[in-house]
Order: sequence, then C-alpha cells, then structure tokens
Amino acid sequence: MKVNIFQSPNYSIKNRPKKDIKFIVIHYTGMQSVRACIKRLTSIKSKVSTHYLIDRKGKIISMVDEKNTAWHAGRSKWKNFTNLNRHSIGIELVNKGHQFGYENFSKKQISKLILLCKFLIKKYKIKKSNILGHSDVAPLRKKDPGEKFPWYFLSKKKIGYWYNPSNKNIINHNMSKNDLRNIFFSNLYKIGYRYFDKKKSSQSDLKIIKVFQRRFRQNKVNGLIDYESLQISHYLASSPKY
Ligand SMILES: [Zn+2]
Repeated sequence: MKVNIFQSPNYSIKNRPKKDIKFIVIHYTGMQSVRACIKRLTSIKSKVSTHYLIDRKGKIISMVDEKNTAWHAGRSKWKNFTNLNRHSIGIELVNKGHQFGYENFSKKQISKLILLCKFLIKKYKIKKSNILGHSDVAPLRKKDPGEKFPWYFLSKKKIGYWYNPSNKNIINHNMSKNDLRNIFFSNLYKIGYRYFDKKKSSQSDLKIIKVFQRRFRQNKVNGLIDYESLQISHYLASSPKY
C-alpha cells in the first residue's frame, strides 16, 4: 500500500499505547477542492487534522502518525467513550459533501479505503462494530460520511457492521407514537448512539433519526421512525455482537 506523507502539526503530543486504538472514524472532507482540504488539515490555525486523507484518485496521504491523537472527531460520544479522537484512527475521504455538492465516492477511493481499513483492523484488532462514521459519534453536529457512503458494500468485505434481518415482528400496532419513539431510541442507545434522552423526545430527535438512516437505511433519509427504521434498529440492538 503506497502512502504519501504530508505532515499536519495538529495532533496531541503525548503518544498513546497501541491498545487505546479501538475505533476507525470515517469522514468526508466537505470542501470545494483537495488543495483547500490539505491547507485546512495542515494549518495550525484550523486545529483539525486526520491520520489519513484519501483523494478521489485513490491516493492515500498520511498526515498524523497513528500513535498520536489526530483532531478529527471533535466533541463526540459512542457507548461509554467520550472524545473519540483519543481512541481512534481518523480517515477523511475527499468529497464536497452536503454543502457543496455531495457526490458518489469514487471506486478508486473506496478500494483504497478497504485496503487501509483491512491493514488497520489487523494491526489494532478493531471490532466490526467499532468502525463508525463521524455522524454516528457526533449526530447533532455532523452528517458525514453521509448516505452515499457504501456501508453495506464494506460490510461484505468484513469492514463495519451490518444487520441480519430476522422474522421477528416487533411492531404492536396498538403502540402509541411515544412508545414507538422510546423503543427506537432505546435500540439506538444499545447500538451505541448518544446525545438523546431514551424516554423524553426533543427537537434534536430528528437529527439523530436521520443520522441512523444515513448509515443503515440510505435510500430514504426522511427522519421518521417508520416501520423499516424501527425494524433495522431492532435487528442491530438485539444482535449479540453489539
Ligand atoms: Zn467529519
């Protein structure tokens, strides 16, 4: 695997032990050009960085050494972890993002991502359920890598987790809207999502539902707890590996 180096000054000086690295967090850059991304990721002022950047031609650029904490995830939570930066490797994929013209990820980009993930998974023994999108760990602030990111395809390559449909019907049609909401959010909590109250709805529910759909029900990101979304959350939450 050929890797180019373009060092970023934005990382925590203290080295971290290998065993602290438990997650891979995937992003899109969300900027107009590759040059702008590199500039931002290497500028002292921006205070952001990533371990790896993959451009649309499949070129991998290493910006921060894996043993250092890069600043890619910001305020974040997943299961009992807060500040995911400390525990993760960050990978940025060049893509204009929702703001500037969200595009399909290129084939070359994804095949290099697969190679890189396989290398990291082996090196740090990263669990399938610990390969996440930025929006999973910061759902109120982020949408990346978004609904065009091929999570299902990657899961077929043993990268990341996918659900296994069961025949169990969990919908009781007498349930109130509130009950449905609470079941759905309890499932999300089991899966690892945070930033909501399991028992009390709030205005930010919509963002969290969409983040879940961008990951697991990509063809319809409507922010509604519909039958399919609820089922998927249930398959995931009741999976023994989670
Ligand atoms: Zn991001």
